[in-house]
Amino acid sequence: MAKTRPPRTATPEIYADIYKMFMAPVSAFDCGAKCAAHNEGVPVCCSTEAAIPIVDKHEWQLLKQRTDLWHEYKAPDKATEKELSDLHHDCVAIECKGFMSCERENRSMSCRTFPFFPYIDREGDFLGMSVFWGFEDRCWVQSHLQIVNLRFLTEFVAAYEMLFQVDRDEFTANRDHSASMRRVFTRHDRPIPLLGRDGHLYKVTPTTHEIKAARFHEFGRWGFYEKDKPAEPAKHWATLDPNSLKGLTRAAR
Ligand code: SF4
Ligand code: SF4
Repeated sequence: MAKTRPPRTATPEIYADIYKMFMAPVSAFDCGAKCAAHNEGVPVCCSTEAAIPIVDKHEWQLLKQRTDLWHEYKAPDKATEKELSDLHHDCVAIECKGFMSCERENRSMSCRTFPFFPYIDREGDFLGMSVFWGFEDRCWVQSHLQIVNLRFLTEFVAAYEMLFQVDRDEFTANRDHSASMRRVFTRHDRPIPLLGRDGHLYKVTPTTHEIKAARFHEFGRWGFYEKDKPAEPAKHWATLDPNSLKGLTRAAR
């Protein structure tokens, strides 16, 4: 009897299931209003001048079926064209009609997850979320991580569990990105923030890979937000008992 092989990439149907499940906003704050104040009125992650959304070809197939919100991105200059020429052949750079036309249910995975990516340690365990640090000077959330809702964290983890089961390239790309973060943070002598899949906050020491419980103030504030007062924490973090920490739960590889 022929063996059925698992698909190597997520199908449009899997993306549709993920979209249905993963709808939670990052926080109760309209973080777009915070960063747009420093970006000519446009939320930083909704401007292709700052970040170009990249989608898998099956995710693109799904988006095209669902909406006319998106179109393929056209590089405005040779430098951007060169940058995009390195994209994996299964990926497509796209652009939406702009934040005034946003359709929440038709946001891409990159819209839903920003500014976070799944942090994977060198053993290959998916431990939780860390940040796209290249945006920390402009992205308000990265200076106020305590505003992240537990529901967002839970749905983020569930979404990537679904994706990693069928798409090893996605897993590998995020494992490599985590390794790259450890190299950069080693050079800068900084701890890596990790919002653990168990709902606790950790710091990863990039040189030793040691993971310890952390407090939000240990990660600092950056760029436009350096002098901000810390924002009110989401209920989950405000009521979390640090003594309840039993050690980070690991997921099956
Ligand atoms: S996630 Fe960051 S960059 Fe995006 S809208 Fe919120 S504060 Fe701005
Ligand atoms: S779809 Fe919405 S969240 Fe995504 S880039 Fe466009 S405006 Fe921003």
